[in-house]
Amino acid sequence: MSIDSGELLTCPARITLDAAQLAFFDRLPAAAPSVQSELSCELERGHEGSHAALGQQVEATTWWVQWTLSASEINPYTWCPVHRSLDTTSRDDKDCTLFDGHPGRHSSAQCYWHSKEETESVQ
Ligand SMILES: [Zn+2]
Ligand SMILES: [Zn+2]
Repeated sequence: MSIDSGELLTCPARITLDAAQLAFFDRLPAAAPSVQSELSCELERGHEGSHAALGQQVEATTWWVQWTLSASEINPYTWCPVHRSLDTTSRDDKDCTLFDGHPGRHSSAQCYWHSKEETESVQ
């Protein structure tokens, strides 16, 4: 199996929320529509640690469902503070859409990337 370069390599893990988790999200004072019962991991394929999917956002707090093979939980995070700094054409494309402290590379606008500091230390 070959993988095209440039393809978005998202972790394939999925989770189906149970009734208690859906009830938790329903009780949040969020303006957004209710959470889907099935969520997909939003981290980079092959990431370390728990899988994670954004469930709901309430003001500056993002509630992420995190799960492993044996357990799942819902935790509050702030957005990852890292911004992509390659160009200045569109701010919306540069903000990492994951949570603060997430494993793997940053993600936004359908691609993963390293921050400038990380790129310099890796290469
Ligand atoms: Zn995952
Ligand atoms: Zn990030």
